[in-house]
Amino acid sequence: MIPPLRPLVFPQPVRGIVIPAEIRHAIESHVAAVHPKEAGGFLACTRQGDRLHAKRHVSLPNDAPMPRRRFSAVVDDRVPPPPRVFYHSHTSARSPSGHTRTDERSIPEPFSIVVFAPHGPILSYRAFKRRLFDWRELLIESKTGGGRFPRQL
Ligand SMILES: [Zn+2]
Repeated sequence: MIPPLRPLVFPQPVRGIVIPAEIRHAIESHVAAVHPKEAGGFLACTRQGDRLHAKRHVSLPNDAPMPRRRFSAVVDDRVPPPPRVFYHSHTSARSPSGHTRTDERSIPEPFSIVVFAPHGPILSYRAFKRRLFDWRELLIESKTGGGRFPRQL
């Protein structure tokens, strides 16, 4: 007897990142505290369906030689294990509200958020997922099933 065909199960791709209000507040105070230097760190996440849910915020010191223009940090045991999202801020009004070409080349993480904060307070959040040859923009939400998030200026 021929066994019935079973559908192949593919892992669902991540389509969005959910950042609850308390994590967002932690990111925003860190960005404001180190302004005008770029701030950065990681969000420890859990996977629920096609969303990453941020559960914990870990800030990292900026080791870049030009910290107003770049963010760099050592990934060591301060950093949460995957699934996780790397984030950094752009504090120059001339920087893009998304990845720069340098960001695209140099961020080794699969998930990245850029927060655009040229005057200290965050004006927008944009989330990206690394693909084979480029980065794709992801949804970013404040709670499951939506919620407004300041993506655009
Ligand atoms: Zn950048």
